[in-house]
Amino acid sequence: MSISVSDITKTYDRQQALKGISFEVQQGEIVGFLGPNGAGKSTLMKILTTYLSASSGVAIVNGFDVTTDAISAQRSIGYLPEHNPLYLDMYVREYLSFNAKVYGTPKDRIETIIERTGLTPEANKKIGQLSKGYRQRVGIACALLHDPEVLILDEPTTGLDPNQLVDIRTLITEIGKEKTVLLSTHIMQEVEAMCDRVIIIHEGAIVADQHLSTLMDDTAQIIEVEFDYRVEDAFLLKLPHITAVKNTHGFVYELIFDTTTDMRPKVFDFAHDHQLKTLQLSRKSKDLEHLFRELTSTVVDG
Ligand code: ADP
Repeated sequence: MSISVSDITKTYDRQQALKGISFEVQQGEIVGFLGPNGAGKSTLMKILTTYLSASSGVAIVNGFDVTTDAISAQRSIGYLPEHNPLYLDMYVREYLSFNAKVYGTPKDRIETIIERTGLTPEANKKIGQLSKGYRQRVGIACALLHDPEVLILDEPTTGLDPNQLVDIRTLITEIGKEKTVLLSTHIMQEVEAMCDRVIIIHEGAIVADQHLSTLMDDTAQIIEVEFDYRVEDAFLLKLPHITAVKNTHGFVYELIFDTTTDMRPKVFDFAHDHQLKTLQLSRKSKDLEHLFRELTSTVVDG
């Protein structure tokens, strides 16, 4: 077991931010901690990383109790805080070397991490010159320096442009092949793109804990597609297995199918055969969206 949290509560002054949270994360899982702003995600992550102490309950990371064995727990965790704190005047390699010294990390490990996080072309630049996406890479590189078993990422993709978003998601998914990853987000699509499992938190309590594969197994399938031109609903209803069409905005359509067979290739070919250009095409989980809306009654970001 990589993370075990049992009945954790946290009260700030008079406000109870966590109301008895319990869950376990197995080694090698990528778990998304999803909830609206103010739900308590950062508070729990700060407790796991030993930055904050819980009011009650027990949290164990990699076998170490975060309260009674904080140093060993810290050694097991790589943490990227929400507002990635970096020294903008330092050069990337210099910054990583500086942090490596704190952990007593061997020098060759720095080069491995630079390569692994895609920082090689930027390694000799000042952090202040980097895009937000590359700054996040530096934060992730720093979190990985001491080769921790568990990586905790607080809102790792917030504020990234669409290209940076894809790159950072890919990097996190790659890292997740070797490490246990717990990441927080208030954006449902982030969970669908990266996670094996989702824990939904609302007002300090867990309201759902599900494997994405279970959610995706549902017979209804939603595909979001954007064309370069307006299309009549009746025309899209000619697709096989389609049960409904919704024009969500502009030339973006939500197509609902009653099959588990991935319909993305069919939609792509259908568009191509009718001289339509497909600008984007993605599969959405109907259940996750419904779950999130139902359980948190909050407008979903997009
Ligand atoms: P999230 O990360 O899900 O946005 P947080 O864990 O930051 O949520 O916050 C949970 C609740 O605790 C919020 O209502 C927030 O206002 C409150 N809170 C967070 N940090 C503090 C603090 N240092 N002092 C007082 N209240 C806090």
